[in-house]
Amino acid sequence: MDKIYDIIIVGSGPAGLSTALHLNRFAPEFGLDTLILEKSRHPRPKLCAGGILAEGERILAKLGLDLDEVKHVNVDSALFNYKGRGLVARFFNRKSIFRTVRRNEFDAWLANKAKERGVEIKEEITVKKVESFKDYVLIKTDQGDFRAKVVVGADGSNSIVRRAVEKDSHPHVARALEVITPRKEKGLPQEIASFDFNVVPQGISGYIWDFPALVNGEPMRCWGIYDSNIVKREGRAPLRTLLADEMKKHGYNLKDYKLEGHPIRWYEPTTTPAIPRVLLAGDALGVDALLGEGISPALGYGPIATKEILHAFEKNDFSFQGYKGRVLGSRLGGALWRRTFMAKLFYRIKSPRKQRILWHYFGWLAGILGAVFVVGWEKKK
Ligand SMILES: Cc1cc2nc3c(=O)[nH]c(=O)nc-3n(C[C@H](O)[C@H](O)[C@H](O)COP(=O)(O)OP(=O)(O)OC[C@H]3O[C@@H](n4cnc5c(N)ncnc54)[C@H](O)[C@@H]3O)c2cc1C
Repeated sequence: MDKIYDIIIVGSGPAGLSTALHLNRFAPEFGLDTLILEKSRHPRPKLCAGGILAEGERILAKLGLDLDEVKHVNVDSALFNYKGRGLVARFFNRKSIFRTVRRNEFDAWLANKAKERGVEIKEEITVKKVESFKDYVLIKTDQGDFRAKVVVGADGSNSIVRRAVEKDSHPHVARALEVITPRKEKGLPQEIASFDFNVVPQGISGYIWDFPALVNGEPMRCWGIYDSNIVKREGRAPLRTLLADEMKKHGYNLKDYKLEGHPIRWYEPTTTPAIPRVLLAGDALGVDALLGEGISPALGYGPIATKEILHAFEKNDFSFQGYKGRVLGSRLGGALWRRTFMAKLFYRIKSPRKQRILWHYFGWLAGILGAVFVVGWEKKK
């Protein structure tokens, strides 16, 4: 307990590992003594459809990491659909629009890369409480106390660290249910992913997905329903029922499969992202409200948190007062903010007639808005 680490990162998902890898790669001269505390042991289960967009791959590439090393499916096109209207998205200059991985495999791979580069990860230690003092942060765990000059809360949407940062609970939490099924011959081809917005008029601020997945080397499908909860509606249909109804149309009986759920916290620029010596990243702070995309954003928090931490050590100022502006002013922060804004507008349109008109006449506009405002926040160089 006497030792004071420079940095303790709570959580070794994409946000925590990306922060550690960026500190390790881009600031070795600081020689910061960094430790990750992780409550599970890799490879650990993580409920997620595993869709990683180009932005995530670019961040990994800048770290010298190649996603090709992880088992994945190349998704060559994505169907965005409302009652048979919509658009097909694909890139002509890339072999996939996104890839799907299994998170147990992806996170374990990333954790191994971090370990190989000298990042210390202590697994099977659960952080119970975080308290910030003038000169250090006290981290209480199920295996004793730790101290650090800086703590990064990268412990996901049920973040414990977040409780030290923001006392009031803000309702920026989406819900997602997921199920893995075998492929049906009459279903979508393996390389196509579908996003179905038929559920919006039924009070859901989200969609039903059907993605290809490679589970233990076997081609499967990953189905799920996402509700950002961004527009509060009384009396909306239960997520499970809506998912079961949709899957039935495709020959699946939901009852035959294991259904699991997990929250996703979405980014709201007014949220407090840090207090002195403690800052948040990834789901602990907030990711994409529009589609619930969180892997690439979590990776994208890594360089932003790293810059803020290095600034703190350089200036010997650990207030982290600039972090809110640094996140919002980043390309990732801008994209997340725009997605929150678009989700608030789009999911408010509950009328089936208006949705139909929107998809019928303005589907092309959604494609352009998506390409300009939603993706592309991480440049190649
Ligand atoms: C059903 C579902 C489907 C999804 N599909 C997609 C998708 O297809 N594409 C996409 O981009 N995003 C998707 N997401 C979102 C994505 O999974 C998250 O946004 C992403 O995992 C966030 O990464 P993170 O590192 O912030 O948190 P996490 O990945 O949740 O990692 C947090 C880590 O902290 C550890 N931890 C937690 N509490 C403690 C503690 N007290 N002490 C120590 N360690 C702790 C956890 O064990 C975990 O390893 C999905 C989410 C859900 C729920």
